[in-house]
Amino acid sequence: MRADFDMALRFFNTLSRSVQDFVPLDPGGKRVGMYCCGPTVYDFGHIGNFRTFVFADLVRRHLEFRGYQVTHVMNITDVEDKIIRRVRETGETLADYTGRYESAFLADCETLRLRAPHHRPRATDHIGPIIGLIRRLEANGFAYVVDGSVYFSIDRYRGAGRCYGQLLNLDLEQLRTGERVRNDEYAKEAVADFALWKARSPEDGDVFWPSPWGEGRPGWHIECSAMSMQLLGASFDLHLGGEDLVFPHHEDEIAQSEGAAPEGERRPFVKYWLHGAHLLVEGKKMSKSLGNFFTLRDLLERGFSGREIRYLLLSAHYRDSFNFTLDGLAGARTALGRIDECVARLRETAGNTSDEPATSLLDRFTEALDDDLNVSAAWGCVFDWVRDLNRRLDAGALSSAAAAAELAAWQRIDTVFDVANRSEAIAPPEILALVEERQAARKARDFPQADVLRKRLLDAGWLVEDTPKGPRVKRA
Ligand SMILES: [Zn+2]
Repeated sequence: MRADFDMALRFFNTLSRSVQDFVPLDPGGKRVGMYCCGPTVYDFGHIGNFRTFVFADLVRRHLEFRGYQVTHVMNITDVEDKIIRRVRETGETLADYTGRYESAFLADCETLRLRAPHHRPRATDHIGPIIGLIRRLEANGFAYVVDGSVYFSIDRYRGAGRCYGQLLNLDLEQLRTGERVRNDEYAKEAVADFALWKARSPEDGDVFWPSPWGEGRPGWHIECSAMSMQLLGASFDLHLGGEDLVFPHHEDEIAQSEGAAPEGERRPFVKYWLHGAHLLVEGKKMSKSLGNFFTLRDLLERGFSGREIRYLLLSAHYRDSFNFTLDGLAGARTALGRIDECVARLRETAGNTSDEPATSLLDRFTEALDDDLNVSAAWGCVFDWVRDLNRRLDAGALSSAAAAAELAAWQRIDTVFDVANRSEAIAPPEILALVEERQAARKARDFPQADVLRKRLLDAGWLVEDTPKGPRVKRA
């Protein structure tokens, strides 16, 4: 790890609307708290959702690559308006209904090779802290009760000299004061006092908890404030999410979290807000009626792999809207094939030498990602490197020590991108035993037997290739 770069790691901060050097709150400069709004588990995750989670994975992995010690929190929203509606339609219990989609979501994350967050709090497991937070807002004078529901008062908050509208410029003078919104989702034209706690209504069925204000359930926004602060403290480094969450969700999170602090202990809730842009599919906004709505599972059924989808999602800058297409996925397959082939050739040439990573690729890669996660430049470095190495390998001009150093550099980079072909590395022992048996047959010049063993490997889904450095096995 080389840390002696002239340029610091920097991100575009929605709060300042500018690219800023990343300086963690930790005085030691090591520990980083990172919260990403997780899924609402009411259906299978679609590819637009996963763009955000792949982006969060990239942020986390790059921070870890740069030597930071990240605590990554991603909540599971398992109670809010949409979920309640679905639970009512299906007649299932809340836990049965959300449990199914939570498991599916976690399996999808594994398919996409997302590093598991250190904490995955569920809203329904944090009703106590949520109520506690609302009580603090009440005590500070920023919450009021109407018919058993509790609302956040934007007027009182602003009256106390606080700023509502930190992430987005809101025309609050146009706002008709005293209006209230009960729905979890609303447009910025509808800025109004929002619900912290919703009194139990007949449509809620069995979904309610006791509270100081009577039976009811939390609003969506307060869930994230309560869980993030409980796990990361009242003030933390990074908060991520899709750009569709900027308003009202994140704006409300700031108001709730900063509004709950005791007078005299006011600190910014979050230092850096990072937002991922939305995804188009086949050139259009995703919608079921247009036939361009894909869950991750739909794409797997079409024969694409998790790593191909991951690669495609990692190929676009997080702040650019990205057009996701099936052609793009086919292109991802080709691009990954080029990397696989080059890495396999490096492995052959490197033999068993393990070495210090070659610095030129690593330095260029680090510089690119440090620049607000400039993935286009980073992938550019990788493909220049592939081209250059192929040339040197073709010319027989790469020593085994040099190949080992390049391979080590790639492996470091792949701790961030994680797109390596794993099938090669994880051939099971019985396959490796067959490969060895076949190699022994060849040595004994028993070629018919070697062919039988090749066929058996192929039947098991493995292709064996003979190279000057010995046999190489890969997925057929
Ligand atoms: Zn959230």
